[in-house]
Amino acid sequence: MELLYEGKAKKLYRTNCPDEVLMEFKDDATAFNGKKKTQFQNKGAINKQLTCLLYRMLEERGIPSHFVRDVDEIRIIVRRVEIIPVEVVVRNWVAGSLAGRIGRPEGTPLSAPMVEFYYKKDELNDPLITTEHLRELNLATDGEVSVIRDMAMRINGFLGEFFEKVGIRLVDFKVEFGRLHSDRSRIILADEITPDTCRLWDIRTGRKLDKDRFRRDLGEVMESYSDVLGRVSHALSV
Ligand code: UDP
Repeated sequence: MELLYEGKAKKLYRTNCPDEVLMEFKDDATAFNGKKKTQFQNKGAINKQLTCLLYRMLEERGIPSHFVRDVDEIRIIVRRVEIIPVEVVVRNWVAGSLAGRIGRPEGTPLSAPMVEFYYKKDELNDPLITTEHLRELNLATDGEVSVIRDMAMRINGFLGEFFEKVGIRLVDFKVEFGRLHSDRSRIILADEITPDTCRLWDIRTGRKLDKDRFRRDLGEVMESYSDVLGRVSHALSV
């Protein structure tokens, strides 16, 4: 199979169908722009399952995504898109980089969810950018930015409500969007939604169940990812 792209946590392969690609979830974990690296056995399989379950749940609620079908333990078929090189972060509580930026401690609730854009560019360290920067860099049109912002807020509403039902607080998350290969005017949700890309805290105990366990050396990384998968799959099977 021809490898089209290899990222930090996933690989993409060509398929016989020009509008579909095979996405493989790796066990590799990286943080701080690749400076910290390791592997966790089973991470690819857990993240693949979570992405399938959450994308199906969102699709049922009218959020179009690149997910097509499940293939095996670590691979899925997704629709081919041209990724917009912007990380779209939605936040409900202060955590991570926001704490330093606005000078409020981690764990402070925000008065309303906020959407931020980060330019996906390793050499620049993925800086926070404004919509004017997006326009100047021709990353997305104003119309696309408005579609993306609207979809990100709706995803936040559905995901936040869903995680709350399983006792998890959705503190913040990152999503990426793409233009459909077969129709560039259509923007859909792409990439993944997993504990690698969300901050998830147990509502009762406050325990972190996400990638911060790896970033901050808190231990029990895969135990926490499995806990999230167990709760999500149980909620969706009943
Ligand atoms: N995030 C991500 N990929 C990145 C940067 C951030 O998935 O390259 C996620 C991160 O897991 C968190 C949210 O986006 O859920 C906000 O991250 P933040 O800006 O606070 O940066 P961090 O503290 O993770 O560097």
